Amino acid sequence: MSYTEDRAAWFEGQGLWQHIPESDWRDWTWQLKHRLTTAAHLEQFMTLTADEKAGCAFANHKLAVAITPYFFNLIDRNDPNCPIRKQVIPRAGEMVLSEEEQLDSLGEDEHSPVPGLVHRYPDRVLFLVTDRCAAYCRYCTRSRLVSNAQDYNFHPEYEQALRYIESHPEVRDVLLSGGDPLLLSDKKLEHLLSRLRAIKHVEFIRIGSRIPVFLPQRITPELCEIFKKYGPIWMSIHVNHPKEATAELRDACARLSFAGVPLGNQSVLLKGVNDDADVMKALVHRLLRMRVRPYYLYQMDLITGGSHFKVDVRKGLEIIQALRGHTTGYAIPQYVIDAPGGGGKVPINPDYVEKITDDEVTFRNYEGQTFHYPLQSTPKKSPGGAPAPTTGLESIVVH
Ligand code: SF4
Repeated sequence: MSYTEDRAAWFEGQGLWQHIPESDWRDWTWQLKHRLTTAAHLEQFMTLTADEKAGCAFANHKLAVAITPYFFNLIDRNDPNCPIRKQVIPRAGEMVLSEEEQLDSLGEDEHSPVPGLVHRYPDRVLFLVTDRCAAYCRYCTRSRLVSNAQDYNFHPEYEQALRYIESHPEVRDVLLSGGDPLLLSDKKLEHLLSRLRAIKHVEFIRIGSRIPVFLPQRITPELCEIFKKYGPIWMSIHVNHPKEATAELRDACARLSFAGVPLGNQSVLLKGVNDDADVMKALVHRLLRMRVRPYYLYQMDLITGGSHFKVDVRKGLEIIQALRGHTTGYAIPQYVIDAPGGGGKVPINPDYVEKITDDEVTFRNYEGQTFHYPLQSTPKKSPGGAPAPTTGLESIVVH
């Protein structure tokens, strides 16, 4: 597959919702109220395939369906293989279970000292503040709890979680996630950020959110003021395909950036969505243009019903290899596997090193040429074989 795009074009506008006043379109609560949530609702705008209809019928037992009108506009309704469509419209593949898949594939529940808090690494915690998202990704790692379609009964206990962080001075880094933290009201979010900022040992606060991608209207001036007030707040957004990089997302990223929020992107490698070097290159270039540093490229977690999205790790390595040296270093995400069962993120890199001895490292560059880097220092000799002249600096060396 080869992907080409008009690099100068950024999708914008109201698409299928031209008849809506612009003030409604730009109102994030309007977007939430008008999400497409059922097969019947989707079929008012498009023809679902039999595969998608079966997926929709099953979704309410696994992970609810919800798509904001803004994001729905990015779907190619005439292409069942549209990479945007695959991310948010369920397919029958979700019903197929494999032996190695698990509901809690990262073993988060085992490391949860209080409801909604995961403490797996000594110095940082994951604070799950809600089970709701603006739209639901069909490959979600937390589909067990997100949207509550599986009756998981998730209830974050903010006070307990905050008290836990307060009483653990080793916690220097708090990641707010969920569900999507930016679905909380400004008031709730400000409460959480102010409490966290008041904890002296919490040095680093970050938010994982797909809201800028599903609902850029939520990035209001008021929200940005909160980030300014309690900053620096770092944010990882989640863009998988260059078509998601719209004018609205670009402008939302600019607002966040001007509010002092450093932005990174986490993509998940998904079959038929972004398992292609040209697609990934177009994506990372758009991210840089939106002030977003590509951060992680995830091998998909072993979530239940996810096998239809699974990509061979060799393909992921091939994509990274196609980027390294062939484009800006800032544009290259770290490819990782989050170790099943809770072993943490492990970097997966193409092998450039051919050999290491006591004397040298032998390695290949991005064009496949071999180079050597000496590990020993050999005193320089003058052309006649006498010791090399000194630098003249020896006399000023203080012992
Ligand atoms: S936005 Fe994140 S938490 Fe929500 S469904 Fe998508 S991947 Fe899961």
